Amino acid sequence: MSDTTFKGWAGAKVEDPTTHLTLKEFTPKSFDPTDVDVAVRYCGICYTDIGSYQGEFGGIVEDRVCGHEVIGAVTRVGSDVKHLHVGDIVGIGAQTDSCGECEWCKSGQENLCSNNALTFAGQYIKGPSKGTPVYGGFANYWRGPAHFAVRVPDSLDPASSAPLLCGGVTVYAPLKRYGAGPGKKVGIIGIGGLGHMGILIAKAMGAEVTVLSRGQSKKDDALALGATHYIGTGEDLAADFKGHENSLDVIICTINPATLPIDQYISLLRPRGTIVLVGIVPAPLSLNTLPLIFKSVAVAGSVIGSPAQIAELFELIAAHPEAAPWVNKYRFEDMNKAMTDFNAGKAKYRLVVVNEENGGKL
Ligand SMILES: [Zn+2]
Ligand SMILES: [Zn+2]
Repeated sequence: MSDTTFKGWAGAKVEDPTTHLTLKEFTPKSFDPTDVDVAVRYCGICYTDIGSYQGEFGGIVEDRVCGHEVIGAVTRVGSDVKHLHVGDIVGIGAQTDSCGECEWCKSGQENLCSNNALTFAGQYIKGPSKGTPVYGGFANYWRGPAHFAVRVPDSLDPASSAPLLCGGVTVYAPLKRYGAGPGKKVGIIGIGGLGHMGILIAKAMGAEVTVLSRGQSKKDDALALGATHYIGTGEDLAADFKGHENSLDVIICTINPATLPIDQYISLLRPRGTIVLVGIVPAPLSLNTLPLIFKSVAVAGSVIGSPAQIAELFELIAAHPEAAPWVNKYRFEDMNKAMTDFNAGKAKYRLVVVNEENGGKL
């Protein structure tokens, strides 16, 4: 049995649960020797939180507390936890538990485990709390396995580090895997929460960045974020891409369109290039094999990142403070206003709720 209650922004059975959240007490998992308690100071809003409150991830949405870009101070440390101490600033991302036994867990790639718990919709996988619901960071406290709480370097600004925990590592992991760095040309499709971090991070890794986004309205931001080139897209991608064919080594596609004309984007890849999808496209892709074969290019996907990759990303941003995500801060008490603004596309480019009670700063 749990020894305490926390309070968090809970979902409800209403038409638009994301803007009618209610602040409720909830009982977290029991405190196990492998756990930490974290007084939440900041939590980013990610698109997946919206989906989870709306029921896209199944389970009982009522009383669910989302939030999976969590930053706070450790207030209690389980007796088996060696790497964290009371007072440490830590971050928790989209994953909060995994089997711990498989080849992926054992090699520090927990995000690839087929039996994992999501911070915004999951149930604990193992130990005494197996089967009990996970509660996320739109709350005053977070409790869970210390293994998934990553220490935040002292030099990082904690508020703008929150979005690195899900959105940031989601773009960092494939950039790293496919070799973004000096001498490489990276394309980022879309400038939203993920896309803006893709630009910042690819630039910090030393790559030359080209941004592809609809129209011209985000061109100034793209260049300010660190892009060298900007391609404004419209109805005719073939015309928009003229002169840019075979120019990019890695493309990260962060958008979620109903359909994706992937052949057009593949025309931008250099031989041996890779296009990585991190946003869900509902319609099946239609691919022509000839360009794949003749350019030896790959179409790939990528899912979040491991705790080790989050730690790596923290180090990268600590060394490149100019690459910290752009955030708009909202008081924790104004959660529904933050959600309303998020839904209205007002994030430039990530909304972060701030818990002043726990030492968060607006
Ligand atoms: Zn997320
Ligand atoms: Zn596993």
